[in-house]
Amino acid sequence: AFTLPELPFAKDGLAPHISAETLDYHHGKHHNAYVTNLNKLTEGKPEAGKSLEEVILAAEPGGVFNNAAQVWNHSFYWNCMSPNGGGDPEGGLLEAINRDFGDVATFKTEFKQAAMTQFGSGWAWLAIKDGKLEVTKTPNGENPLMHGMQPILGCDVWEHSYYIDFRNARPKYLESFIDNLVNWEYVEGMM
Ligand code: FE
Repeated sequence: AFTLPELPFAKDGLAPHISAETLDYHHGKHHNAYVTNLNKLTEGKPEAGKSLEEVILAAEPGGVFNNAAQVWNHSFYWNCMSPNGGGDPEGGLLEAINRDFGDVATFKTEFKQAAMTQFGSGWAWLAIKDGKLEVTKTPNGENPLMHGMQPILGCDVWEHSYYIDFRNARPKYLESFIDNLVNWEYVEGMM
């Protein structure tokens, strides 16, 4: 069976940017529901014995895909944040960002722009394609894996990510995410 991973930080660890109340709902209700639904949909089927990535890459559009992708996306999203996050990337990640975007400020602007302009529910990503970093966005549960890209940073822009803390102000949530929450060491480790 697929399982809900623990949050990699304390429930109040991302406050005041993302509150414990948001995480109660986002991890405890939304993420948990995707896990429960995926287990129901795959019970007794070959998918139940496969990895999440295998299920995502093999699934037709529909319930199994949506729930599997959302389980993967949320686990990845939690890992992309840290109570000690924010600031600027360093080391090899900084070099790669400078190489592919010009500088960190340009990358951050592009990332926030992608996240802002994802109409309705979806995700913004920094991903690697053919050895190059790219900013991309996807609707609903889609993620870069199915487009032959390796995601290294993901930001949930479904309203449930920010409505309690920021109401409808997606741009303020994105500023907080990129400036105060991103775990750049984890992102670099995914390269
Ligand atoms: Fe979400």
